[in-house]
Amino acid sequence: MKNIVHLQRIGELDLAIILKLKKNLQWAFKEFSLSIKIIEEEIPLEDSSYNQIRHQYDASLVLRKIKNYVKEKQYFRVLGVMDKDIYSGFLNFVFGIALKPFRVDLKVSSVAIISITRLRESFYRRSDDNSLFELRVLKEAIHELGHTFGLEHCNNFCIMQFSNSLADTDEKPSQFCDICSKRLLKFVKKLK
Ligand SMILES: [Zn+2]
Ligand SMILES: [Zn+2]
Repeated sequence: MKNIVHLQRIGELDLAIILKLKKNLQWAFKEFSLSIKIIEEEIPLEDSSYNQIRHQYDASLVLRKIKNYVKEKQYFRVLGVMDKDIYSGFLNFVFGIALKPFRVDLKVSSVAIISITRLRESFYRRSDDNSLFELRVLKEAIHELGHTFGLEHCNNFCIMQFSNSLADTDEKPSQFCDICSKRLLKFVKKLK
């Protein structure tokens, strides 16, 4: 199970999006020898994670759910992908959140989730642009997975830059900077 990133659909999600993401992640992580697999079955989105007043899902509650679900299966890394708006703590919305592994023990399993809802142009009443959307999904996925490998936010021209807005996501590259890239490489080498 080492070196495998599993993609998990949470709630209803177009399979085509996950298939495309798998392909893009495979390419993005090829130098890190991580392989990407799709978990066939969907995990349902539970009403208990929904905030009726905000009309959003609580990202932390969804993440906890995923964590429990995958713990039994002993997956190495799991990225949950959902198409409902999420928030976290005092943040009005988030594109994703990750469970950062404790200290140096990165070999334990870890999970992250992303929401693709705010990555579509149509969310902002603009006409949809599919290649832009797919690039945003990929960037958010790489960023959150980066956290699950112990990477922190980075001020370089790097995928690990913090995104406070969609413009931030669009401005940052879809790659790790040299420093983050070396950290990740060092970690994956230790897995062997
Ligand atoms: Zn982050
Ligand atoms: Zn970096």
